[in-house]
Amino acid sequence: MIGVIGGGIIGVATAYELAKLGEEVVVFEKRYFGSGSTFRCASGIRAQFTDEANIKLMKYSIERWKELSEELGHNIMFQQTGYLFLATTEEEVEAFKKNIKLQNRFGVPTKLITPEEAKEIVPPLNVEEFLAGAWNPEDGKASPFHTLYAYKKAGEKLGVKFYPYTEVVWIDGGREHKWKIKTTKGEFEVDVIVNATNAWGSRINSMIGKDIVPITPFKHQLVKTEPLERGQIEPLVCPPAWNDSYVIQDGEDGGVICGTALEYKSDPDDVTPTYDFVKEVLKWAVKIIPALRHVHVVRQWAGHYAKTPDNNPAIGELVEDFYVAIGFSGHGFMMAPAVAQALAERIVKGRTKVPLDWEWYDPYRFERGELRTSAFQIG
Ligand code: FAD
Repeated sequence: MIGVIGGGIIGVATAYELAKLGEEVVVFEKRYFGSGSTFRCASGIRAQFTDEANIKLMKYSIERWKELSEELGHNIMFQQTGYLFLATTEEEVEAFKKNIKLQNRFGVPTKLITPEEAKEIVPPLNVEEFLAGAWNPEDGKASPFHTLYAYKKAGEKLGVKFYPYTEVVWIDGGREHKWKIKTTKGEFEVDVIVNATNAWGSRINSMIGKDIVPITPFKHQLVKTEPLERGQIEPLVCPPAWNDSYVIQDGEDGGVICGTALEYKSDPDDVTPTYDFVKEVLKWAVKIIPALRHVHVVRQWAGHYAKTPDNNPAIGELVEDFYVAIGFSGHGFMMAPAVAQALAERIVKGRTKVPLDWEWYDPYRFERGELRTSAFQIG
């Protein structure tokens, strides 16, 4: 039996993939499923990264995203509405060109477009201050709610047992013995553990005396406007030089989700939103889309980026039969389909066809002082 700790998108998708391979799986979630970062994310999915490992992983993940509604038997609202990054200086245009070349090398069809072309894609965009855009029409978005629900339902059909409001408080055993997982709902014995608790990941690793993945939770927030007519800001639009701010129209109801890189170190259980975020994010949002000035904000919420020192997750085997997939640094939703499949195949078969570079994401790299190039992060 395999015990997955953490009921966000990574834990639930991994449980499903494990069950698909014939494993008996239990998942422990201390609150309700999705209550961590997953239900608080901006729904964005992109292959526009600036390093080989993340580009390849996300290229594959997008292929999986395309299949999921049919495979899981529920519409997860995946739409390839693209990501549009906007450059404000010549130096940025040069950096975009370099990134585009790298992305093209691995089959990601990003191209450099003019401000006029950008305005055709996003009609209310203020193009005056932009010199060029990096546009990948294959990037997109999906509903975090429907995706988690779909994986969970499909997992249940394959026999996965999901335990909500069941906090893991201690772990014993390992090596030749089974793992004993002590929870608020009793004790469980499992052969393999997957730690999928992201921002809480270090706490679970500490329970087995292996707190070697440095994760710092940073509170990140979003606001959302009242619903607008669809088709106006369908891609995620981000001028990185404007404090990594972004806007994206919700794929379901048409409200505009707005984010910016105002972050605070914070306990992952503290999800209280702050007023200074509203002022900061709206300052940038109305610069990107001036017409948003006339639209009401109806919601604000907070979640956490579980940041590692190089903004890349830690994925792999920490000790025998104890795996981690944590520290997603703001990219766990988009990566989940690929990571879940790769991890499940590695655990069950010892190998995977997913192009996941285990060396790049090695949880031991921090201890060895081998940081990777920082993963390209926004908001
Ligand atoms: P989580 O969803 O956080 O799940 C971990 C779970 O573990 C939690 O539910 C928690 O309750 C549970 N847990 C913790 N401790 C215990 C315990 N002791 N016992 C049992 N359960 C426990 N990512 C993208 O890809 N695209 C985006 O556009 C995007 N936008 C974002 C915007 C914001 C504002 C935020 C905050 C995040 C965003 N992210 C985005 C990041 C994304 O939300 C996360 O990377 C992703 O949801 C991580 O999923 P997870 O399953 O690893 O973690």
